[in-house]
Amino acid sequence: MSAPTPSPAGPRVVVPAGGIGGARFLRGLLAAAPGARVDVIGNTGDDITLFGLRVCPDLDTVMYTLGGGIHEEQGWGRADETFAVKEELAAYGVEPQWFGLGDRDIATHVVRTQMLGAGYPLSAVTQALCARWGLPALGVRLLPMTDDPVETHVVVEDDQGRRAVHFQEYWVRLRAAPPALSVVPVGADAARPGPGVLEAVADADVVLLPPSNPVVSIGTVLAVPGVADALRAAGAPVVGLSPVVGGAPVRGMADKVLAAIGVEPTAAAVAAHYGARGAGGLLDGWLVDERDADAVAEVEALGIRCRAVPLLMRDLEASAAMARAALDLAAEVRA
Ligand code: GDP
Ligand code: CA
Repeated sequence: MSAPTPSPAGPRVVVPAGGIGGARFLRGLLAAAPGARVDVIGNTGDDITLFGLRVCPDLDTVMYTLGGGIHEEQGWGRADETFAVKEELAAYGVEPQWFGLGDRDIATHVVRTQMLGAGYPLSAVTQALCARWGLPALGVRLLPMTDDPVETHVVVEDDQGRRAVHFQEYWVRLRAAPPALSVVPVGADAARPGPGVLEAVADADVVLLPPSNPVVSIGTVLAVPGVADALRAAGAPVVGLSPVVGGAPVRGMADKVLAAIGVEPTAAAVAAHYGARGAGGLLDGWLVDERDADAVAEVEALGIRCRAVPLLMRDLEASAAMARAALDLAAEVRA
């Protein structure tokens, strides 16, 4: 009897990711490239401690989306969620009341907080949580960008004056209404890349920047010393997808934080912000939406290979087509 032929290992894909935009793209990637080994570098700058519980919104959005537990329409939080604990906390008058933690979701934060309290680093805790959701069987590792504390703060100015608030307060409570003067990933300068992060980038066959927020999701991951350098030095092609379509973010308020770093909300401006690898930046390739086809020449003039394809993740099929287009562009760049 001959030994079973080992199935050819799929490509190793590295994806730095935030929440919804990252997670939906990753689901498409898994459909487009069955057998791929996907290392997600998750943003932890949005993390916050609420009611004594450690909450990691972006890691959880990726975990729930890939694991089948996400609230589909909302794009974050658990499906079939209830809010009894939130109501009870409100009845006690406990603050903050602007951040809605659902009952099912709270279980995740309880487990995480317990494990962190027992001394496990966030990377190990995340691995344990992801095991329940079946991510290893999908070929996915969710690697927090760092095990060290990083908190994104936004400097705003409104009738209460100029002050820095936690990103979640800016995004959820203030709904990004006051102009953001600057965005600061507090602690990032002293943070070390999480276990496996730099190795994953070095070993990657392809790096894809999903249409996550370029400032507070991907920008925060890149702010961890060593990560951007590793991407620039990677042997793998780096291809990104625009989160901006037709002059506005597809959902959410990314234009507000783009303004804070002086980047216009256009597909070409975001590409220019990441920069061409040939010119010390990050990108070999960039996908813009069909309706931004006139940006292609502008992006190519920067030294970034660019294509216009549909970039709306309406459903799994559309997300998979985007992932396929990104992998095709990466192959083209490599050749
Ligand atoms: P968050 O952490 O939950 O805010 O999620 P991400 O940072 O991963 O993704 C947010 C970004 O995804 C927003 O800036 C949106 O513009 C972008 N986005 C969401 N849905 C789509 C889509 O269908 N197509 C594209 N191109 N971008 C999208
Ligand atoms: Ca986020």
